[in-house]
This record gives sequence, C-alpha cells and structure tokens, in this order.
Amino acid sequence: MRLALIAHDHKKDDMIALAADFLPLLRRCTLLATGTTGARLTAAHGLTVERMLSGPMGGDLQIGARLAVGELDGVIFLRDPMTPQPHEPDINALVRACDVHDVPCATNVATARLLLGQWSA
Ligand code: PGA
Repeated sequence: MRLALIAHDHKKDDMIALAADFLPLLRRCTLLATGTTGARLTAAHGLTVERMLSGPMGGDLQIGARLAVGELDGVIFLRDPMTPQPHEPDINALVRACDVHDVPCATNVATARLLLGQWSA
C-alpha cells in the first residue's frame, strides 16, 4: 500500500493522533508526505516517509504527479476548511487528480479512520 499524508497547519496534531492509532498499518506502507507533515510524522512516530516540498511550495503538486502515474493507492489529506490557503489551486488539483484516477482520498479525520480501518483489516 502506497499512501500520501498531508495535513494543513491546524490539522497537523490531528494527523499525528490519527497516525498513532494506525501505526501497524502505516509501518507496512510506503509513505509520501508534504514536507512539514512528513517531518512531524517521523519525529512523533519514527515513520519512514519520503518527503516532498512543503505544500505551499509545490508539495501537493508533486504528490499529484506521483498519483497521476499510478504510484499511489490512497491519500489522507486533512484540509483546514476554516483558513484560506495560498496554494488553493494546488489543493484542488490534487483532489481532482484523485477523482480522475479513482484513488481514495480522505479529507477529514472521520473518513480517514474509515479508510485506514479498512486497509488495516
Ligand atoms: P506541509 O504542507 O506538510 O509542508 O505543511 C501541507 C500544506 O500546508 O499544504
């Protein structure tokens, strides 16, 4: 399983808590993440993560490019719906790429728990 993990700043603590509950699965996965999210996951849980650029610097686009060529099986993208993001077009491009290529994409914790629970089974 090849997963991408992305969390906006106000959602990074949620991502760390989410990852804590699914560590056995995540340790078996090949993980990609945007820069800061990946650094937080490695620091908190010792996960091995291929880190892209930070989201606002193009990290979402890098993940979208990998997804578009079939290199990802799922995306956990904890977006912050309450804060305007400078890279909104990149965010939309990544979510669109998930829809184009029919790749599961969880954009909130509740959906992420459903997907990660399913993949853990
Ligand atoms: P970051 O990028 O993990 O580098 O913070 C995510 C984002 O804010 O889009």
